[in-house]
Amino acid sequence: MEYTSTRDNSLSVSSAMAIKTGLAPDGGLFVPKSLPRIFGEELSELSQLSYTDRTVKILEKFLTDFTGAELSDCAHSAYNKEKFETDEIAPLYKLTSGVYFLELWHGPTCAFKDMALQILPHLLKKSVVKTGETKEVVILVATSGDTGKAALEGFKDVDGTRIIVFYPEKGVSNMQKRQMVTQEGNNVDVAAVMGNFDDAQSGVKKIFGDKEYAQILERNNFMLSSANSINWGRLVPQIVYYFSAYCNLLKNDEIKLGDPVNFVVPTGNFGNILAAYYAKEMGLPVGRLICASNENNVLTDFIRTGVYDKNRPFKTTGSPSMDILISSNLERLLYQVTGKDDGQVASWMQQLSESGRYEVTEAVKAKIGEVFYGGFCDDAQTQKTISEVHQAYGYVMDTHTAVAKCVYDQYKKETGDETKTVIVSTASPFKFSDRVLAAVAGEEALARLDDFALLETLAEKGDLAIPAPLAGLNTKPIIFNTTCEKSEMYEVVSHMLNLS
Ligand SMILES: *Cc1c(COP(=O)(O)O)cnc(C)c1O
Repeated sequence: MEYTSTRDNSLSVSSAMAIKTGLAPDGGLFVPKSLPRIFGEELSELSQLSYTDRTVKILEKFLTDFTGAELSDCAHSAYNKEKFETDEIAPLYKLTSGVYFLELWHGPTCAFKDMALQILPHLLKKSVVKTGETKEVVILVATSGDTGKAALEGFKDVDGTRIIVFYPEKGVSNMQKRQMVTQEGNNVDVAAVMGNFDDAQSGVKKIFGDKEYAQILERNNFMLSSANSINWGRLVPQIVYYFSAYCNLLKNDEIKLGDPVNFVVPTGNFGNILAAYYAKEMGLPVGRLICASNENNVLTDFIRTGVYDKNRPFKTTGSPSMDILISSNLERLLYQVTGKDDGQVASWMQQLSESGRYEVTEAVKAKIGEVFYGGFCDDAQTQKTISEVHQAYGYVMDTHTAVAKCVYDQYKKETGDETKTVIVSTASPFKFSDRVLAAVAGEEALARLDDFALLETLAEKGDLAIPAPLAGLNTKPIIFNTTCEKSEMYEVVSHMLNLS
């Protein structure tokens, strides 16, 4: 299967090339030229397989320049007992007879980014070899919190790669920061940027788009690549868990083959929910896709009005991994729903970068509205949702998952839709333990607790075990303490790579 750019249909590259370079040369995103189909009998067959083997079957359809053995090797290196605390990898938790949580946080960093970032380094390493590349690959990451740590864990000590992570100084949780600044590995670097996630992301994008800097890197035998969710190698493994969730519902007799299922996705960069959209387009029986945002509700407005407008105050919330005003992967959705109109997509993206705003046509808006429902909630509603679900069911959610549950409740109330629904649970509650504990046990429970006492108290009050990767953090030495201005990101990279 060949890949093209959302901004130029004349481009054509292999999947290995798309994964190796991350971003298309015209600034667009790589997309498959056509979508493979999986439905009917093939879905039933898939449901008999393990998560790892489901991954191989689905990836085989997209990454046709990889052999089955190569993909099997990648999948088994990523999804195994050493890395994930459950054999199921992405288990479903049944809340009621029609509502399930898809828990995507049983990997090494306790958030859903592991689902893709455990396998991406293996795909990338093979892509580099396949394309005859001899330079060392430098992974440059801007993170709103969870990507950074997950990318560091995925790439650490992978031969032929280096990884540099920039996180916004204001906008990640203490625990997220602690996870990153204590990272081990001989090929890793971490720096804080003064600013928010969009500052860090636009800084990284600028470095990516800089042709002169690329030459300097090349002279030093380096090439840049991306582990952000714009990389196709990150998106495609995410399609797997939507199929897998459906297969598990089938296997557990919760649904019959062909029954539609809704998915609710707590959304930031639009990567996770886009994977659900691809699964639907591939033939998975999906009803509605419910796009849940926090107070940075640019996507809610877009879905409802057809106007994307990032000119609004950036809010720091209790669900920081969704504090995003530019949802990069939306570009891929626009490409699909315009019938692959590269010129139109390029023009909207140019308007977005020039004025921070664009408006889609009525037809495009209607097409998006058929599939997607958009909603948002604020921090107070998020807290209330965590508390209510804990009281009613004894189930403890993290803040991001709670945003999704809250928006699902709004959706259900508004539409009366009784379709069975999977709420995508994107982080362990321990990763955002102060907000979760406050919701479960009251603000006063937080008094005088440091980050680690918080974990213990949450474990006690929620009747849960602290995940091993978080429990060990307080004894790890802090390795990275670089902080820079947005304008200094180039110098930081040059310094870290020792460029001449
Ligand atoms: C990254 C992240 C999200 C948002 O996912 P996108 O793919 O950016 O939409 C939601 N929740 C958590 C916990 C995350 O880490």
